[in-house]
Amino acid sequence: MPKLSIRDLDLKGKRLFIRVDFNVPLAPGGQEITSDKRIKASLPTIKYALEQGAGLVLASHLGRPKGKPNPEMSLKPVAARLSELLGRPVKMAPDCIGPEVEAMKPAPGEVLLLENLRFHPEEEKNDPEFARKLAALCDLYVNDAFGSAHRAHASTVGMIQFVPKAAAGLLMDKELEYLTKATRNPERPCVAILGGAKVSDKIEVIQNLAKFVDRLLIGGAMAYTFLKAQGRPTGKSLVEDDKVGLAGELLASLGSKLMLPADHVVAAELKEGAECQVVEAIPEGMLGLDIGPKTVAAFSAEIAKARTIIWNGPMGVFEKPPFDKGTVAVGKAVAASGAVSVVGGGDSEKAVKSAGVADKISHISTGGGASLEFLSGIELPGVAALTDK
Ligand code: AMP
Repeated sequence: MPKLSIRDLDLKGKRLFIRVDFNVPLAPGGQEITSDKRIKASLPTIKYALEQGAGLVLASHLGRPKGKPNPEMSLKPVAARLSELLGRPVKMAPDCIGPEVEAMKPAPGEVLLLENLRFHPEEEKNDPEFARKLAALCDLYVNDAFGSAHRAHASTVGMIQFVPKAAAGLLMDKELEYLTKATRNPERPCVAILGGAKVSDKIEVIQNLAKFVDRLLIGGAMAYTFLKAQGRPTGKSLVEDDKVGLAGELLASLGSKLMLPADHVVAAELKEGAECQVVEAIPEGMLGLDIGPKTVAAFSAEIAKARTIIWNGPMGVFEKPPFDKGTVAVGKAVAASGAVSVVGGGDSEKAVKSAGVADKISHISTGGGASLEFLSGIELPGVAALTDK
């Protein structure tokens, strides 16, 4: 069911609560932001709401303070950076609920940033009383924190029952638009590329993608568990022995849709610059650390035909050259395909960046866990809770 968008709300003179994802990386000590990417990602929503005449209450978690105030995980540096980016003052609240915060409720055009939601254990417990107090700060609610939408917390789900309307922000809208486009009725051929360390992290994703993709290309360490299930040699490569049986079942159900690596880059140790060779059968004592050139060619041919591409996880240990070659080549093939391409967050985003093709990808998700859950076919609680259109 499509959800209400911030563009559907009448914001003039309203106090709008925006759940943002300002979970930025901080240097030790918690004073300096090392990447403001997440703040910038919600600027379109914040600016739009201000232009429409709303007063803004912004709220986020930051890190894992485990339900207790912790000055090293304060959102204060974020308020300062946001103020610079917006070119207007951003008031910093001493907490996220309570009389002092209520006294700071913003007038139209003003921006108030609440202190870290997770300083209260009630946030992650989705406590109704805490949720009611958050809702008391606003007239309307918007969720722009896609990266937290897979969590049913007070600020992402609980407080929505206490507000008249809850809508998706512009960033959330974009995430849902692309992920929905890629997974429901995609333009065909639809090719999914999965990689990364473990099969166990992505079983549900594989099962769900299998229902609708035309091809599933598997690289990265997760491929070795499948190769083992086929009875092929895996040497010292990362294999999840307890998942070999399941990999066998997936192989049987996926049939010819599934493509596994036909050759591998192997080395005796996982070290940057380690001496390596290309093999079709992984020798005993060797580690498979990247897909080989034959696999790159075969995967690239499938990618070139695709009209929709879903990519999650690197093809090898891309952080340590020369084991980045497969991931870089696949990234370039995706970029050259002209297909609608959707890439998961986290390591997949880093992989696309290291391939130098980030600007050629239609959409790079801002939520690693949330995009994986979406690709697993699970309805995200933070999305389900929003008001239907
Ligand atoms: P994930 O978070 O599941 O997407 O996994 C990403 C991690 O998988 C990266 O840190 C890669 O270095 C790692 N990875 C990919 N291929 C291999 C491999 N062949 N052997 C060991 N680690 C790998």
